[in-house]
Amino acid sequence: MLSHIRNVADDLLNLLYPRLCAACGIRHPSRDAALCVTCQFDLPRTDYHLFHDNSITRRLAGRFSLETATAMFYFVKDASVQHLLHRVKYMGRKEAALHLGRQYGRELKEIAGYCKVQLVVPVPLHPSREHQRGYNQSAWFARGLAEGLDIPVRERALARIRKTETQTNKSRQERLHNTEGAFVVRHPGLIKGQHLLLVDDVMTTGATLEACAIPLLQIQDVKLTIVTLAIAQD
Ligand SMILES: [Zn+2]
Repeated sequence: MLSHIRNVADDLLNLLYPRLCAACGIRHPSRDAALCVTCQFDLPRTDYHLFHDNSITRRLAGRFSLETATAMFYFVKDASVQHLLHRVKYMGRKEAALHLGRQYGRELKEIAGYCKVQLVVPVPLHPSREHQRGYNQSAWFARGLAEGLDIPVRERALARIRKTETQTNKSRQERLHNTEGAFVVRHPGLIKGQHLLLVDDVMTTGATLEACAIPLLQIQDVKLTIVTLAIAQD
């Protein structure tokens, strides 16, 4: 009954404020989807989850202990994925991150390297930035992944204790220095012995992921797998 009321409310809301595709911003997606049918097929998927040896695992090789890693899309400048990420990050389209997470989570559940992860942990924003934006886009993607994989998510497992400068136009070395020590683990007892799925929106050099991985891997018997919504050129 409640879900029926919610659907009717959704339909009314859609009638008043038509929801557009989160990537092209032109066409309408069907109910419970973030993208229109065209974008659903056209956006550049990496299919990295099918290959352990991919750009993410190669970029992170030798930096910390990693089970495997994947990204859903290639980030291409001035193309649909950039528009999608912009809408998700700055224009309140957090539900798009949730839908995409659900979709990817269901796909990952069928893959040997991913079906054994036990707990989803998103990369946090600094509290002042989260307050300003009103939400953490990576946490919404993480929530979707957890639903698709049918495992729990612990959104506050990590905390960002230092505000970092924007990473744009920084070299790999500068990015590493910028994010070093920026994250701490809250309640280590709750993640002890777990195979974690660390989730972020975009991977570039991997400096943020590394800054999160290091404190997480200090907890006893933690294993780490990584999923991002997109991967950018190094
Ligand atoms: Zn579209």
